[in-house]
Amino acid sequence: MEKVVLSKFSKEELIDFIVSKGEKKYKAQQIFSWIWAKNASSFDDMTDVKKEFRAFLNENCTILDSKIKLRQISKDGTIKYLIEFADGNCAETVLMRFDNRSNLSMCVSSQIGCKMGCKFCATGKNGFKRNLFAHEIISQILHAQIDTGLKITNVVFMGQGEPLDNFDNVVEALKLINKNLQISIRRITLSTCGVVPKILELSKNELLPTLAVSLHSPNHALRSEVMPIERKYDINALHDVLKIYNQQTKDRITIEYILIGGFNDTIECAKELINYLKDLKCNINLIPYNPIKGDKFKKPERNDMLRFKYLLEASGKKVTIRLERGADIDAACGQLAGRLNK
Ligand code: SAH
Ligand code: SF4
Repeated sequence: MEKVVLSKFSKEELIDFIVSKGEKKYKAQQIFSWIWAKNASSFDDMTDVKKEFRAFLNENCTILDSKIKLRQISKDGTIKYLIEFADGNCAETVLMRFDNRSNLSMCVSSQIGCKMGCKFCATGKNGFKRNLFAHEIISQILHAQIDTGLKITNVVFMGQGEPLDNFDNVVEALKLINKNLQISIRRITLSTCGVVPKILELSKNELLPTLAVSLHSPNHALRSEVMPIERKYDINALHDVLKIYNQQTKDRITIEYILIGGFNDTIECAKELINYLKDLKCNINLIPYNPIKGDKFKKPERNDMLRFKYLLEASGKKVTIRLERGADIDAACGQLAGRLNK
């Protein structure tokens, strides 16, 4: 018989389940806190649970149904994990530690592979396998917490996959991260390539994460060249729905813009971007392009990158250049390819 995976449950569901197996309600609450607050990796860690009940749990239940298959630690402290799920498929997840900040950010994957086919992205090149279930998304955070003994404070959906192409599971995962792991919804960022109808649906959700949008160009022709989604939902439709999302939240949207040398880093491109963003509440995150084996794009020149940044700042926007994290272990943006999947 398959074991019951306890990390799938909301607090209420877990309590009902434990009580239905004959334990007291306060014990159920203790078990909830072992799993979600105290980083228990096994039922034997749960020292205040009776031996007989632990034996029952060991026999019939499991906390997680996935495992860490590989761990790589970068010189800069970034840790990349390859998580293996029950069916043998793997996805990568990255823990980002900064020595000058107390934040601990986890970059999670939402799918095995991705259907969106962006030309500059290693995940996109590998094609699509399947969606991750909500508890499989959550498991990435729990594994990192158990492994490091630390408490994750921020979650970004910027790993493998397009989160809005796996809407129901991602919305369920947002709920578990917020309610069970007690991470404020504002500290959860969902990055999308711009699946317009799903952004609209998300804007009506009970929990509104911080939205990040992979724009990369506000020019239809240029964007179509590298992002197939632009041919389905173009930048005008995207602009309209971002205004709606802006109205629903008090937070700014993050506009992600990969700077690709000679492609979208010119003065003209900066002006077009300023115009596109002028009525949106947003910050801009410039991401220097990370070269992928065998493709034609170039890293931006440092000078062009700084020029781009100054032009945007002069328009009154807050602009950051994304630090390259974990480059030595292929954990940087767009590099997560889940190489062990066949
Ligand atoms: N599918 C979502 C989230 C995952 S990708 C999305 O596209 O937004 C996370 C970020 O990495 C996106 O902004 C994506 O455009 C960026 N990215 C992909 N490939 C990259 C590369 N080679 N160099 C730099 N950033 C890249
Ligand atoms: Fe998918 Fe995002 Fe990569 Fe595009 S950039 S292929 S949407 S993971």
